[in-house]
Amino acid sequence: MKIYNTLSRSVEEFEPINPPSVGLYSCGPTVYDYQHIGHMRRYVEDDILIRVLKSNSFYVKHVMNITDVGHLTSDADTGEDKMEKGAKRLGMSVWDIAKKFEMQFKDSCLALNVSLPKDLMHATDYIEEEIELIQRLEKKGFTYKTTDGIYFDTSKFSDYFKLSRQNPETLRAGVRVALGKKKNISDFALWKFSPKEEKRQMEWKSPWGIGFPGWHIECSAMSMKALGESLDIHTGGVDHINIHHTNEIAQAEAATGKPFVKYFIHHAFLAVEGQKMSKSLGNTYTVKDVIEKGFDPMALRYLYLQTHYRQEMNFTWEALSGAQNALAKLKADIEFWDEAKVGCAEFEQNFLEAVNNDLNIPEALAVLWEMVRSDYPSSAKKRSVLKFDEVLGLDLGKAKRKEEKIPDEIKKLSEKRGEFRKEGKFDRADKIRAEIEEKGFAVEDSESGPKLRRKS
Ligand SMILES: [Zn+2]
Repeated sequence: MKIYNTLSRSVEEFEPINPPSVGLYSCGPTVYDYQHIGHMRRYVEDDILIRVLKSNSFYVKHVMNITDVGHLTSDADTGEDKMEKGAKRLGMSVWDIAKKFEMQFKDSCLALNVSLPKDLMHATDYIEEEIELIQRLEKKGFTYKTTDGIYFDTSKFSDYFKLSRQNPETLRAGVRVALGKKKNISDFALWKFSPKEEKRQMEWKSPWGIGFPGWHIECSAMSMKALGESLDIHTGGVDHINIHHTNEIAQAEAATGKPFVKYFIHHAFLAVEGQKMSKSLGNTYTVKDVIEKGFDPMALRYLYLQTHYRQEMNFTWEALSGAQNALAKLKADIEFWDEAKVGCAEFEQNFLEAVNNDLNIPEALAVLWEMVRSDYPSSAKKRSVLKFDEVLGLDLGKAKRKEEKIPDEIKKLSEKRGEFRKEGKFDRADKIRAEIEEKGFAVEDSESGPKLRRKS
């Protein structure tokens, strides 16, 4: 299996540190706002990556964080805290804001058939580990203190630009703003002190004073806690290359002296009707918006798969409509096929070659359609299409699914969960969701109320 590694800027043969295990860390959502279809593209692509690894007989341990700490703007050094501000605006606690948007994220994943790790790691649950990591860096002389926090001195870490390949000279020349309290323009906060003039809802004691962790430290601390000091794969959006992942590497490698990540995989952006998504343009659509416009969320998954993960994708409603028709046609075809027997070896081989070549899913879909249109007996096509779907995750095997009977016990649990959600008791609602899932069912929230289905 071959994959593009941002560290080397080339497609490499994938060789994990301890095969067949693969430790994979994905940067998860920041939960002070809705996850839109641009964010969700990334999670679908991570899901595909995991499925491809599994189809190559790797054992994948997938870890994802939830950034539930309020942070300052992009480099976590200046500006306002969106979570604390959002909480004030909505009259909710920051903890409830985080829960609310985490739930929206999980609902979106479920609708798109994205499996998440069982235990998502919340940044606020690992403050101790984050402080310990900062202390390790402090002992090794990589930190300094200013009036507003503890900073990482990037001039002390010689490999700082190895991922971004930025030139520190041009970086310095391009910046016109004052350094503020920082020594170097690329230095970043490890720990921030709570502002004196304002009471924060989220703050913790630390050896340096009351405050909260910088944005980057959680990912280094939690990924190493869950997967050890060297990870096989780390994924995230291309926007993470220059700052977030660069800083994660600096924190981890300065502390351990070991390579932090073997393969960095980055996903490209999504544009809407040729434009960058933005609140002011009103084009930051969510999965819920897609469902409310009458689309099957799986059509969105199918649409994502038509663009290679390293290519910018242009979302249009017309393209989504096309994807929905293609998927419906495929499912209708499958319904008339005979029961699966021996597959189409030639197409299976081509499919495997495509997915193993830097996750070329658009090519794999072309192989699928070529097979559908071929003269092979339908029983053979069926066998192969079900095999392909282990990677694609389009629920093609469920083409013939009839209305499911949901037991009363599950319906009652779902009603109770709905009541807790209405009352804003998201913790308790979440517990009931877990209970429903334990009993083998999944619950999806839609505009017409929660929908229940048996988990596949
Ligand atoms: Zn991260």
